[in-house]
Amino acid sequence: MQKRKLPLIDIMDKNLFRKILFYISVPKCVACGERIDLDDDALCKSCAVDYNEVKQRNCSRCSLPLYECSCSNEFLENHYVKRLIKVYRYVQHHDFTPSNNVIYSLKRDNREDVLSFLSSELECAVRKSVIDPEKYIITNVPRRRAAIKKYGIDHSRLLAKALAKRLGCEYASYLKSKSKLPQKKTFAEMRISNAEFDIVNVDLRGKRIIIVDDITTTGASLGSCAALLRASGAKEIIGAVIAVAYKDKYEPFAYVPPIK
Ligand SMILES: [Zn+2]
Ligand SMILES: [Zn+2]
Repeated sequence: MQKRKLPLIDIMDKNLFRKILFYISVPKCVACGERIDLDDDALCKSCAVDYNEVKQRNCSRCSLPLYECSCSNEFLENHYVKRLIKVYRYVQHHDFTPSNNVIYSLKRDNREDVLSFLSSELECAVRKSVIDPEKYIITNVPRRRAAIKKYGIDHSRLLAKALAKRLGCEYASYLKSKSKLPQKKTFAEMRISNAEFDIVNVDLRGKRIIIVDDITTTGASLGSCAALLRASGAKEIIGAVIAVAYKDKYEPFAYVPPIK
């Protein structure tokens, strides 16, 4: 007797399987904790509105929305990062904004939907500014070892890998974090001297690199990593971050009256 084929494959088609998984996992909005729908990406509809509002802020150098511009800042320009791609500006001292919360979640939670959402946002921003992104190698600013131990993940590495997959690029892990932390330093000194990295022994002559991080605050980490890549021969280095938090003289939406 011929065995009857179970229509399991048909039933478990990808979409249905996704739906089942989705409802079993009871997904919550990463910002407000409310239940989200299948068509939501990590944020509920109300938080997505707030998120998109933050995303519409312009760059005060070139006037484009930040996710469409690739302006760097002075510090990074001096550290071989002539172009910096970003999705939005981190809102300082506003811990409960959806745009901030989605980054906190990326750092701590290891949520697949958050990684998918942010890597997709970064992919769009890269495609706006970079012609032929597949010609670049993607690497990341490594997370400090103590933080990996605490959270169990290197979120920048996960983000960089997900971005590479979306763009069809090669991913390579070139940089390592040094383990020792400096003692008794001011906060500003900490940020600069914490930016201490090693690079693997690699010849990057002629290579174009996109270096990924979640957020750039002073640019110290990104700049230090870029300097190492440059010293190994990298021809071009582009920074790609979810958010910028640095304060420079270019403040978006701030009207400064002319001095009389
Ligand atoms: Zn929400
Ligand atoms: Zn700009």
